[in-house]
Amino acid sequence: MDDHFATRACHAGREDFSEIGVHAPPIDLSTTYPTPDLDAAARSFDSLVAGDDPQGSFVYQRLFNPTTDRFERALAALEGAEDAAAFASGMAAFTAVLLAAKSRGSHVVGVRPIYGTADHLLTSGLLGLTVTWTTQDEVAAAMRPDTALVVIETPANPTLDLVDIAHVVRQAGPVPVCVDSTFATPALQRPLSKGLGAALVIHSATKFLGGHGDVLAGVVAGSHALIRDIKHVRVATGSLLHPMGSYMLHRGLPTLELRVERAQATAQVLAERLAEDARIARIHFPGLAGQDPRGLLGDKAQMRGPGSVMSFELASDDPSVMRAFVGGLRLITPAVSLGSTDSLIQPPAVLTHRVVDEEARDVTGITGGLLRLSIGLEDVRDLWRDLHSALAVVPERAALHNAGMRISAGRP
Ligand SMILES: *Cc1c(COP(=O)(O)O)cnc(C)c1O
Repeated sequence: MDDHFATRACHAGREDFSEIGVHAPPIDLSTTYPTPDLDAAARSFDSLVAGDDPQGSFVYQRLFNPTTDRFERALAALEGAEDAAAFASGMAAFTAVLLAAKSRGSHVVGVRPIYGTADHLLTSGLLGLTVTWTTQDEVAAAMRPDTALVVIETPANPTLDLVDIAHVVRQAGPVPVCVDSTFATPALQRPLSKGLGAALVIHSATKFLGGHGDVLAGVVAGSHALIRDIKHVRVATGSLLHPMGSYMLHRGLPTLELRVERAQATAQVLAERLAEDARIARIHFPGLAGQDPRGLLGDKAQMRGPGSVMSFELASDDPSVMRAFVGGLRLITPAVSLGSTDSLIQPPAVLTHRVVDEEARDVTGITGGLLRLSIGLEDVRDLWRDLHSALAVVPERAALHNAGMRISAGRP
């Protein structure tokens, strides 16, 4: 019987500590490694270039780093994966996933919305792949003989749509499904588990995994065979995560579940209050009544809780009101990114998702007035006070619309 999540988070990647006599992961910054036995080093080189384990010497940091390897083993243990590969950013990880998939075909099926730059990477054709964008119920119809990968993100950035992973996996048939689980983290959702059946799970580790806003990184987990091909791309393209970043990510794993649960509890309270507030026109948060129509949230369901990111529109769509509201916040920092110790807010249509086609933004609900709020670890009382006082500049719904007009609050 495997240890439970919190226990694995404290011990994974640290199994040899007693043997080597340390209590914190050693940081190895070597860019090169001695190769006194040339033939053995050549064998190790071949093995590493293919994406396999070292056979003796690590040869060169771009091929292998033991500090990064520790973090990868730990993350794989938390996702229930055979292996994992860490990258210099979430986008570097996604690029390697796509390049590795090209051996199977040059077509990708994607369910929108996904992270803005990931959408842009696929739509632009920069990597020589073509993409068909679809919805979670129409994946089967979008599949082609040359489809190499199906890409989904749940909860989706920035509308918090929940995508039914098992439903997409069934439609994809033998084609691997890659799930961007950045908003959930393995503390809330494990897409590779038997019931869900995804082939790959990817994270921008810059967000909740790092958790402190000071590491840019990405990581992807899956089977030995798939991660081997992805590591091959990483060696060839040079996108390995720096060992300092790997150390910091590994250091953060024992507190991941605590951080995620605390921020989630705060987000639930704030989302409920915002949903009741007449100055909020619409709010997206999976933890609100009516916002999980597929029943994907729950202890035995796909995702254990709603997480701590939400998005909302103010009752006024005047851009100057939005700017005044954000400008009036004292604690919540206006900034892109999410999953940090402190709360962050930004308008996706203006910043993170500006690289997405305008029409696609409209269809998927990324409106000009949408604000994405990532809740941090501050006290809920102070965050509410901050939101409440900044909302003073926003007119109430009733003052804007005549009686009888139906205002969508994002709830039934
Ligand atoms: C931030 C983010 C990415 C990109 O990751 P980087 O580390 O910024 O390269 C991908 N997916 C999601 C859901 C994200 O939030």
